[in-house]
Amino acid sequence: MLHFSNPIEFKGKFLTFILYSICFTILNVAIYNNLCAQKGEIPVVKALDLKMLPKYTLTKLWHEVGTDPFGRPVLVPVMVLKGDGLGPVIGLTAAIHGNELNGIPVIQKVISNIDPKSLKGTIIGIPGINPESILMNDRRFTDGEDLNRIFPGKVNGSESEQRVYTILNKLISLMDINIDMHTASFGRENCYYARADMKDDTLAKLAVLQYADIIVDNVGQPSFGSGSGQTSRAAAVEKGVKTITVEYGNPQVYQDDMIKRGIIGVTNALKWLKMIPGSIESSKDAVMCASSFWLYTDTGGYLEVEVELTQKLTKGQKIATLRNPFGEIVKEYYSPTDGIVIGKSNNPVATQGARIIHIGKY
Ligand SMILES: [Zn+2]
Repeated sequence: MLHFSNPIEFKGKFLTFILYSICFTILNVAIYNNLCAQKGEIPVVKALDLKMLPKYTLTKLWHEVGTDPFGRPVLVPVMVLKGDGLGPVIGLTAAIHGNELNGIPVIQKVISNIDPKSLKGTIIGIPGINPESILMNDRRFTDGEDLNRIFPGKVNGSESEQRVYTILNKLISLMDINIDMHTASFGRENCYYARADMKDDTLAKLAVLQYADIIVDNVGQPSFGSGSGQTSRAAAVEKGVKTITVEYGNPQVYQDDMIKRGIIGVTNALKWLKMIPGSIESSKDAVMCASSFWLYTDTGGYLEVEVELTQKLTKGQKIATLRNPFGEIVKEYYSPTDGIVIGKSNNPVATQGARIIHIGKY
């Protein structure tokens, strides 16, 4: 126990202690980063302090988000492109669903295309925010949960809840804006579409700039499988992080067309935010949908979907046929509304309640 004869002595020693602590931390980080740089290694951090990172530089880091069963850290790749540090902090996050990969090269290429000296603000790229699920080629986390349905998570919750809590509070909360990148899930395919709360002018503009086929006005409700929790987007918006979702095509593949358009869309957003110079590349106008919903089978069978992505539908139009194992027609499905095809099943194996098509209503 330390004893101080008077408050002034205590204050002086306390300030000296704080000063030594700060210097020691800075020195340690500098030595560590220098050692990593010498060995060509990527530094590992438990917290990302943007102020500590050098300006006009791309810093690659491994961010610890938990530990695996062998006590090893679980590491997420983070690319921080820091410009002058005066503009907004925009996040680019991909693959919270581990089989939704097209966003990964979008982030890598957008960041590599930018000269940090021309950047106003900071870009935090996280090309693979759910490493365990990526490793498993799976949408879901190690405990079977869908991470994008259980935000904001819990500090002392289950393994998936703790992971979500860490992602939200240590990574997403550093951002002013986030573009969260997805694709369709297994057995389905998507067009390129954006989801955003179109009542918010900033979010509406960010969505329009994405070079998408379709934009769905949505505050953050999942397109299917809603549980008791929130999506990453809804939780981020509650924390004041302006967030849109983009859906780039199909799972477990890299699709050149989707990746090229994704790069244009994110780059457009950076130009509009005046974070980088250049003129915005406009596409044909996206079809604006006020809502969307999935149509499901009401019995089992082998499913043949007869409409294409982005095809306009009229109410009563035939969209799918379900056959039994002998090839006989079990049921034919018709569109319940005018609309447009956002996504569709490409898996013939349809249990009762299988998804048929995702319809946008405009
Ligand atoms: Zn997804």
